[in-house]
Amino acid sequence: MKHTAGPLSRVIAVIPAAGIGSRMQSDCPKQYLTIGHQTILEHAIHALLRHPRITRAIVAISAEDHQFQTLPIAQDPRVLVTVGGKQRADSVMAGLELAGNAEWVLVHDAARPCLHADDLARLLAITDHSSVGGILAAPVRDTMKRAEVGQNAISHTVERQDLWHALTPQLFPLELLKFCLRRALDEGAIVTDEASALEHCGYHPLLVAGRSDNIKVTRPEDLTLAAFYLTQLNN
Ligand code: C5P
Repeated sequence: MKHTAGPLSRVIAVIPAAGIGSRMQSDCPKQYLTIGHQTILEHAIHALLRHPRITRAIVAISAEDHQFQTLPIAQDPRVLVTVGGKQRADSVMAGLELAGNAEWVLVHDAARPCLHADDLARLLAITDHSSVGGILAAPVRDTMKRAEVGQNAISHTVERQDLWHALTPQLFPLELLKFCLRRALDEGAIVTDEASALEHCGYHPLLVAGRSDNIKVTRPEDLTLAAFYLTQLNN
């Protein structure tokens, strides 16, 4: 599949936000917890729409979600909403259906509110030279252990050289991502991020080194950290 998008082509963002965030132990899905005056989801969407190439944000929410429509961001004409699916990949697929004929699509977790403008710009710059796309990622710093299956005991140490944490946003040509996600889902592959679907189909998306403060709010203690990082970003 050949893509010829130039550096200034427009990009559609898809934000899967249909998860329930069970690890957060809170009453509402984690993307609706607030930091300052906005929910985590609003911080995540605003960080994307601040870039002039991102002209539309498609948010995939769960069928039982009555909260999104109450947020001011739901009135933004650049924001579209759709119903997500069972797994993250189904939610992303639902979002891609509304992406029209965009050449490039960028997928960003609803629970990552601290995306830095420089990271986003560096990721978007790959459309100038890549036909496969890429992801923001951070090199692993800690020593990595593989556990014995289902146990809290170490099996062995995993070489951390060339090991990266996959972050979001992840940026791909729209048609290529659709093709790979559909095939990966049909073939029962485990798809925890969009790059996994491309890998499943034999592609090698680029790793773009990103900041480690682009955290996904997953556990209660992450909220304090995200609030701190956001104050740093906005100063
Ligand atoms: O659960 P996890 O943190 O991996 O979720 C990553 C992102 O995928 C979150 O933004 C979550 O709302 C979204 N998701 C989704 N649809 C699902 C499951 C997760 O949109 N069925």
